[in-house]
Amino acid sequence: MGNQQNTQGKNDGFEVVAVEGLTKKYGRRAVVDDVDLHLAAGSITGLIGPNGAGKTTIMSMLLGLVRPSAGRGTVLGHDLSRPAAYLPQVGALIEGPAFFGNLSGRGNLDYFARLAGHDRSGIPDVLDLVGLQGREGDSFSSYSLGMKQRLGIGAALLGDPQLVILDEPTNGVDPAGMRDIRAMVRRIAADGRTVLISSHLLAELEHICDRVIVLDQGGLRYSGPLTELPTSRAEVILLRGAGRADDEALHRMLSGEGLTVERRADGFAVEVGEVDPVKLAGRLNRRAAEHGVHLVEVHHQKQSLEDRVLDLVGTGSRS
Ligand code: ATP
Repeated sequence: MGNQQNTQGKNDGFEVVAVEGLTKKYGRRAVVDDVDLHLAAGSITGLIGPNGAGKTTIMSMLLGLVRPSAGRGTVLGHDLSRPAAYLPQVGALIEGPAFFGNLSGRGNLDYFARLAGHDRSGIPDVLDLVGLQGREGDSFSSYSLGMKQRLGIGAALLGDPQLVILDEPTNGVDPAGMRDIRAMVRRIAADGRTVLISSHLLAELEHICDRVIVLDQGGLRYSGPLTELPTSRAEVILLRGAGRADDEALHRMLSGEGLTVERRADGFAVEVGEVDPVKLAGRLNRRAAEHGVHLVEVHHQKQSLEDRVLDLVGTGSRS
């Protein structure tokens, strides 16, 4: 998990983004519908949702690129309706920036820093932060996709912004490249910056986010710490006999125990309920042995975080 202060909730410390009722309509269709965003200073917040959920639109509204149809609040203490007041303190990677293939990584940062009027003396620190030191003199066209994304994040960090907005920076990047990007995002927040980062996969963000905002079809489905994501399916102990006779004996034994049992393709699922799952698994294992049942599996099955998100958003994408 990231910084301590951020797991505490929206009332703890300064809110870099405090926006309520954010809405974007195209014609009569709301592609972002009444979304509240509260980002504590120094926190990493993941914006999770399938394609078309409204992630880019939310980020674009914070960046003044898309005008909200409704919604009010502040970004870095300035009114949301006056992005020019806060944008100098915001860095973003939203559509990959158009870098020059024949220029080096450093040359590209130099160009963008000049264009935006940023102090170029910060470029070595940025290269260090995004892990491109040693490769900064190589041409952009020779970079891997992961390095290109990291340079894009580097461009967002020019000018030392307080709020960093990254739209799907791990998209298309291989697992090693994703790991590098995750480590870099942690470093960015460890320096005290606030990060809003989107992905359609929770797995890409679950180890770095203090909080997640789950969106579906423009609507907010959940906002809070990952550990408090709602569960819809019961925790079970899964038991499987060595063969058919064992399974039948197991079924008889479980039925006699007064437990809630479901027969599944991969064995018998016993609902854990309020008891300690490890103790229940141990008890069932012993009872099976007493009944002469040979088990090949005793397994505590919890609903994964990814499954919990999928339950919130359904499975289809809606672009
Ligand atoms: P993805 O993961 O595919 O990038 P997203 O969650 O970022 O998706 P958005 O790009 O914000 O989603 O789009 C949300 C919805 O708004 C989509 O259905 C999209 O087609 C629609 N949309 C976006 N821009 C416009 C526009 N200018 N006019 C009409 N509809 C739009």
